[in-house]
Amino acid sequence: MTQAISQLLDKTHYFKGLKCKECGAEYEAKAIHVCEYCFGPLEVNYDFSSLRGRITRQDIEAGPNSIWRYRQFLPVETNDPIDMGTGMTPLLKSHRLARQLGLKNLYIKNDAVNMPTLSFKDRVVSVALTRARELGFTTVSCASTGNLANSTAAIAARAGLDCCVFIPSDLEAGKVLGTLIYGPTVMSVHGNYDQVNRLCSEVANTHGWGFVNINLRPYYSEGSKTLGYEVAEQLGWELPDHIVAPLASGSLFTKIYKGFREFVEVGLVADKDVRFSGAQAEGCSPIAQAYRENRDFVTPVKPSTIAKSIAIGNPADGAYALDIARKTNGNIESVTDAEIVAGMKLLAETEGIFTETAGGTTIAVLKKLVEAGKINPDEKTVVYITGNGLKTVEAVQGAIAEPFTIEPKLESFERALERAQTLDRLEWQPSLV
Ligand SMILES: *Cc1c(COP(=O)(O)O)cnc(C)c1O
Ligand SMILES: [Zn+2]
Repeated sequence: MTQAISQLLDKTHYFKGLKCKECGAEYEAKAIHVCEYCFGPLEVNYDFSSLRGRITRQDIEAGPNSIWRYRQFLPVETNDPIDMGTGMTPLLKSHRLARQLGLKNLYIKNDAVNMPTLSFKDRVVSVALTRARELGFTTVSCASTGNLANSTAAIAARAGLDCCVFIPSDLEAGKVLGTLIYGPTVMSVHGNYDQVNRLCSEVANTHGWGFVNINLRPYYSEGSKTLGYEVAEQLGWELPDHIVAPLASGSLFTKIYKGFREFVEVGLVADKDVRFSGAQAEGCSPIAQAYRENRDFVTPVKPSTIAKSIAIGNPADGAYALDIARKTNGNIESVTDAEIVAGMKLLAETEGIFTETAGGTTIAVLKKLVEAGKINPDEKTVVYITGNGLKTVEAVQGAIAEPFTIEPKLESFERALERAQTLDRLEWQPSLV
């Protein structure tokens, strides 16, 4: 083996540094996220030219059963990342939901069962904390709408990092408990997410902590690309025709796009025009409003919705998400809280997947787009389910059936069954008797 080839094979990382998304200024790969010249956001800059044609589908398939099979595309240097089995969640072909909506080619990417904390945030945090450790941070932190705090606390515990997270004080009980159990310091802030985020920017400047979604944001956000890579791989190394995903800051949406483009760039999948459609809750829909009003800037709003995990009134990547939806011939829609609950029930009853409010939002928007003729029945459409319903039980309380309470006696059961049948809550199959 020549020295040049062995060096290439030994190379563990392909990211060069950071680059401003607006003016292109380049920076070292440190814990910074804002351009000094134009205040634009910084993004990780790669050298994929040396990877093109040299990384094969088989190389990736032979990797770990987690996001780290795509390590060459992620901004870490180590060969030993924090790997809790995050990623490689199921991509299910939908039958019953698809039929109900009149679609023929619908797939569900189910991050409601992502590891370790049952939301897509485990992807971004795995990458951010692996990088945080490399950069020498011993305390990590975040400004969270709930799921991010769960992931940061859990993965920090696993990595032995100190952790202090900030959440708005009105979060669902499951999200708060699902953070506290890992033993971090939790700051419950009287204010909405945007106020929490502003406070955290000040803390980041004064305490030298690694905030996954502030000073580590360029690394953190790259983790979302794996939701693009996995879908391409799970579709048999092919891009879909259309994706529907929820929008909070807009980061996830833009990074699925980036993931698809990178796979095309290195030659792992054939190029294709993928349509990108985004979902917001009407009570916090600054990006959908800008889309509707044909604006290329996003006006901040004050959130008021049950979809708390995606309630960001001042979305950092809103303008980039708008641009992607427009240039790919997609859409951005919003739905009411009642439609969100109906969306959660619809997914549960047709596909056996209990998602949280963000997933209910995405399903309700999918339905709305189909009804408006904005998704063709034949398009290979992937809907991204990003969180688990057990964390937001408040949202469906009062909207679902009660159990039948009975005595441990056969006749008590028979009476209840009769009531159930008249209520038509149970499919009666006489042939089985
Ligand atoms: C954070 C979050 C999102 C969206 O994240 P952004 O990248 O900020 O747009 C979507 N779904 C769930 C469940 C989330 O927790
Ligand atoms: Zn700049």
